[in-house]
Amino acid sequence: MDAFRFAKESQGKGFSVEHHTAKVLEKSEKLNKRFHHLKLISSDYAVKRSKELDRQGKRSGRLFGLPVSVKDCLCIKGIESTAGSKILSGYLPVSTATAVKKLEEEGAVVIAKTAQDEFGFGTFSTNILEQKIPLNPFDLERSCGGSSGGSAGFTAVADFPHVSVGESTGGSIACPASFCGVVGLTPSYGRVSRHGLIDYANSLDKIGAIAKTVREAALLLELMSGKDEKDSTSLPAEAEKLSELNGTDAKKLRVGVVKEFFGAGISSGVSKVAWNAIKQLESEGARVEEVSLPLNAKFGIAAYYLIALSEASTNLARYCGMRYGVHEKLEGNFDEYFSMVRSKNFSKESKRRIILGTFARMAGFRGAYYVRAMKARTKLVEEFRKAFKSFTVLAHPTMPLVAPKFSEIEKLSPLQQYSMDLCTVPANLAGLPHISVNAGKSSGMPVGLMFSADHLHEKNVVSAAAALEAVVA
Ligand code: GLN
Repeated sequence: MDAFRFAKESQGKGFSVEHHTAKVLEKSEKLNKRFHHLKLISSDYAVKRSKELDRQGKRSGRLFGLPVSVKDCLCIKGIESTAGSKILSGYLPVSTATAVKKLEEEGAVVIAKTAQDEFGFGTFSTNILEQKIPLNPFDLERSCGGSSGGSAGFTAVADFPHVSVGESTGGSIACPASFCGVVGLTPSYGRVSRHGLIDYANSLDKIGAIAKTVREAALLLELMSGKDEKDSTSLPAEAEKLSELNGTDAKKLRVGVVKEFFGAGISSGVSKVAWNAIKQLESEGARVEEVSLPLNAKFGIAAYYLIALSEASTNLARYCGMRYGVHEKLEGNFDEYFSMVRSKNFSKESKRRIILGTFARMAGFRGAYYVRAMKARTKLVEEFRKAFKSFTVLAHPTMPLVAPKFSEIEKLSPLQQYSMDLCTVPANLAGLPHISVNAGKSSGMPVGLMFSADHLHEKNVVSAAAALEAVVA
């Protein structure tokens, strides 16, 4: 049963949200023992909420009683929210992120916070100190992808109607969706309010949707979208009726197949599955042509990591053991105290990113790194603009490979890990809406196809993904 049918049933007489939620919580506990997708299960919060919903006289809301999991970096009042970091242990937000609030207004029941790489720093959900690493539903020796790995993994294994809220800075929704065979929808930058999000990189962060089907992901995004006075970067654009698109008309699609993302560095198995899927769309009437994005392919990773880490290093400055999360025994002067707290509670990867980001924007180096990366970003956006004059969507594999084994990830250098984001980073840098949808399997593991569209053209990616879903399913 999908979220649409569920909301209809749950609004009917005799449906007990409390009873349903209790069952879901029990199942989630069991699933989590095996897969570790959830950082915490918010049982008390969910039970309280479900009782409130049952008490409501008139039952309404498009997510009425629907269990929803939320990436840990989104704040929820009264539920520990740490963005997967030890340094925020014990942090209880005083308010709830706007995106989550909007879902609750539609009747959603938050059942869990999902596992993620610390602050979103990673591609495999292995940069986690606080809890066990989440495991891929198709092979327990493999990664779920990251950084919204818990959200995607749990969506794949949950055998009840459920959707998850994710977040992407450079591909953190698309990547785990691809590795776990589910749908990951990232909106245009500004479409969803970032109020209540524990930031990674403010000019890149986007809250989005992870679901089993394109329509459910579209509904979730539709409900989270809109201007919010608490986030000045949120856009006044009307929330589109994304969930009403039926995607049956492949003939309207003009698909640009990004040549570079089928070339060097992309596994042949992944390329094959992605190509086959595109061919199927073509046989349904979509117009398909190759397009080249040489600048994005060449400079995307470098520009992204310079900008993202520059922003991250300033964002993380506030975690020093005084205001949020952990407090240690105050010894020595403040400088010594701050250093002690930070060296004890940040992971090695976070420290690496703080050092890189601080260096890139330091006086004397700023011009050579941060400012140059910003200039490159403008060029990369221009390259996309040109492409969207001829195409409604661009298509390519979401990730260059299927979910790797943990033993393989361990052998990768940081730079090799960063380069895995080759295909997802460009659309994120440009703030473009994109979706990853399952295109089939290679060696038994799911392969995601990614569609991106021009700014605020979420409709195009949803239509393309729905069309693909219809032929691949
Ligand atoms: N893998 C990318 C990074 O580590 C993207 C992460 C994200 O989108 N949060 O920065």
